[in-house]
Amino acid sequence: NYEDYEGFKRLVDTAKNIVVLTGAGISAESGIPVFRGAGGLWRKYKSENLASPDAFASNPALVWEFYNYRRHIAFNASPNKAHISLADYEKKCKKENRNLSIVTQNVDGLHLRAGSEKVVELHGALRKVSCTNGTCENVEENYDDPIVPAFANRGDASLDQADLPVIDRKDLPKCKKCGSLARPYIVWFGEMLDPDVLEEAQLLVGGCDLCLVIGTSSVVYPAAMFAPSVAQRGVPVAEFNLEEHPADSDFAFHFPGLCATTLPKALGLQ
Ligand code: NAD
Repeated sequence: NYEDYEGFKRLVDTAKNIVVLTGAGISAESGIPVFRGAGGLWRKYKSENLASPDAFASNPALVWEFYNYRRHIAFNASPNKAHISLADYEKKCKKENRNLSIVTQNVDGLHLRAGSEKVVELHGALRKVSCTNGTCENVEENYDDPIVPAFANRGDASLDQADLPVIDRKDLPKCKKCGSLARPYIVWFGEMLDPDVLEEAQLLVGGCDLCLVIGTSSVVYPAAMFAPSVAQRGVPVAEFNLEEHPADSDFAFHFPGLCATTLPKALGLQ
């Protein structure tokens, strides 16, 4: 049902347990680059290749510079109308004794900053860091050390010395508890999700009676299987994306276009 706003509105206004799955596309209009497609390069690197344990093991300074750049962008960005409409709709649900939860692959924190309360961050968060020392495992919830400002913003693919990290190894972020090297609290490609977080997401997804899937290319597992698993149960899924995807044919609703426009309209909040 392409762009069946009325049909969707009837469902969303009566659903008891709404789950919203979000990916990088919901933050694109806040100016945060997505990983795939245009804007997916940082300096000369594919973002996907820096968000990996191998990259961090071989060149932690380079990976930290990439994350300093991402932190700089995310912390200076503002939630857009898509984030805000989800937060507003959650409040409306609460008053009506209904639930809306967000399960996000994003690490930018914009759902929380928009005022959403029930948010499962599947892949970690840019505001957090964790210790690399296996016996410490400390997680800083709000890592506030200053970002090296001169370089934070240089995500420029044409930068000549792209291979030369600028932060000295000795100046890399340290665990505040034990002094070991700290790393971004992010689930990198090839790493496992926190089992408790995954279980929480699976419970929400398994118990929903309506699912929205917004701005994800649905290629990163396990998040990619959530919406198809809901559709297989016969529960309606509504996709909001610029593009169509192969999995889409099972979904009940499609709202093509920029989600900061389509989502507030679909929720009746514009
Ligand atoms: P992705 O980059 O693979 O795909 C983005 C999707 O959003 C695409 O399907 C694109 O068509 C769609 N899109 C782009 N702009 C849109 C808009 N304005 N409205 C609607 N749809 C739009 O993102 P992904 O599927 O989330 O996977 C990327 C992985 O990288 C995730 O694991 C995530 O943790 C991480 N990541 C996070 C952020 C962030 O926190 N903002 C940014 C980049 C990557």
